[in-house]
Amino acid sequence: MSNIIAIVGRPNVGKSTFFNRLTGERAAIVDPTSGVTRDRHYGTSDWNGIEFSVIDTGGVVIGSEDVFEDAIRKQVELAMEEADVILFMVDAKEGMSPLDEDVADMIRRSPKKVFLVANKVDNSNRSADAIEFYSLGFEKIYEISAINGSGTGELLDDVVREFENTVMEDIPDLPKIAFVGRPNVGKSSMINALLGDERNIVTPVAGTTRDSIYTRYNSFGFDFLLVDTAGLRKKGKVTENIEFYSVMRSIRAIENSDVCVLMLDATQGIESQDINIFSLIQKNHKGVVIVVNKWDLVEKETNTHKDYEELIRSRIAPFTDVPIIFTSVINKQRIHKTLETANKVNKSRSQNIPTRQLMDIMLPIVTETPPPAVKGKFVKVKYITQLKLAYPAFVFFCNMPQYVADPYKRFVENRMREQFDFHGVPIEIFYRQK
Ligand code: GDP
Ligand code: GDP
Repeated sequence: MSNIIAIVGRPNVGKSTFFNRLTGERAAIVDPTSGVTRDRHYGTSDWNGIEFSVIDTGGVVIGSEDVFEDAIRKQVELAMEEADVILFMVDAKEGMSPLDEDVADMIRRSPKKVFLVANKVDNSNRSADAIEFYSLGFEKIYEISAINGSGTGELLDDVVREFENTVMEDIPDLPKIAFVGRPNVGKSSMINALLGDERNIVTPVAGTTRDSIYTRYNSFGFDFLLVDTAGLRKKGKVTENIEFYSVMRSIRAIENSDVCVLMLDATQGIESQDINIFSLIQKNHKGVVIVVNKWDLVEKETNTHKDYEELIRSRIAPFTDVPIIFTSVINKQRIHKTLETANKVNKSRSQNIPTRQLMDIMLPIVTETPPPAVKGKFVKVKYITQLKLAYPAFVFFCNMPQYVADPYKRFVENRMREQFDFHGVPIEIFYRQK
């Protein structure tokens, strides 16, 4: 189940500041150049052990003054459509603005849970200033300071309580596959090609209390759950091809999946937006298959295929151990292969490697090529084991783990990938003191 929080509000109330506090992505800090779309506006966080995603809608559209209102309207629409909980942020220091009232008018109609958050309450003196916001018609005002963190604990306590209340229904224990990508790459065509003529073998599965997001596909030797196909087949209300939108759409599908098929349009190449989605998949530790669709539209010479593949790998580096398939959905080419590959990635991702086997295979490798000595000290790996997580994660127990540097970590990951099949699977390796 995904838990998605969107932060909305007029510019400068502190949305990005709070976003950064939650996600710890300091790099996402406000770009002061107006008219520039901020790059990072999605992050993950957790509170009381409950994980959630945060969207800073401030990054959606930044325009000149006269289009602000329109931009904010879009922000709020996106949040209402895509998020589970909305944080409506206002500025207690500046006081109420007409734009706040506009946002409140829109947001009141949302069936989603909305929290009114008065930011910049850095000290108790300013608490009085927040009172005027009661006129916006919300029961409660959460007074916080995004800068010093005061009040944020109480807010998050209540926010995650919303998530705890969401009841999960029984979902069959099958691989969950999501098709993600920018608008127009062919996702719906792919889903329709799979499901279109096969209505009899498709069973909708009620995934959550909020929306039905899984569809079971059981045919041609496959048995898996398709994620969020309803949302894909019926196009959303917001049809504008804005960059941010496809990411928003993808988040939920990614979080609810085991394997993501990232679709690209062969005629467009791989763009920064595709890379964003790719890193979201990676960050969420999901399996990934890259599909270059509309291959029928590309004029081919001897090396087209190989060159294209190399280009993609160079863009997704350093995680390049990913299957890439060239499809033509309209010609029904390599659709079966896509499913087969996604299945295989799912298997690789679910493998449990016994400690004995890890030790037998990896210990000689790290003993033969140990990390370079630091200040005359040698790192020695003594024990290796896999963690019991939903994705492959391993611990290498050693003395002085702090001396294991990134190049060596990459070396070990590459050896792991050679020895065990993790094609399309992000893996995590920790170094810990025993
Ligand atoms: P956004 O446009 O809503 O994303 O707002 P920003 O996060 O860019 O913040 C706008 C300005 O408000 C920045 O100068 C922040 O440093 C400042 N700010 C954000 N949160 C707080 C807060 O809790 N207290 C104070 N005093 N200033 C804040
Ligand atoms: P979505 O927005 O990712 O769901 O993309 P759609 O499935 O709606 O496809 C966008 C457009 O691309 C439609 O006009 C499709 O007919 C077309 N399309 C999809 N797959 C292919 C393909 O393999 N080859 C070609 N030539 N067109 C395709």
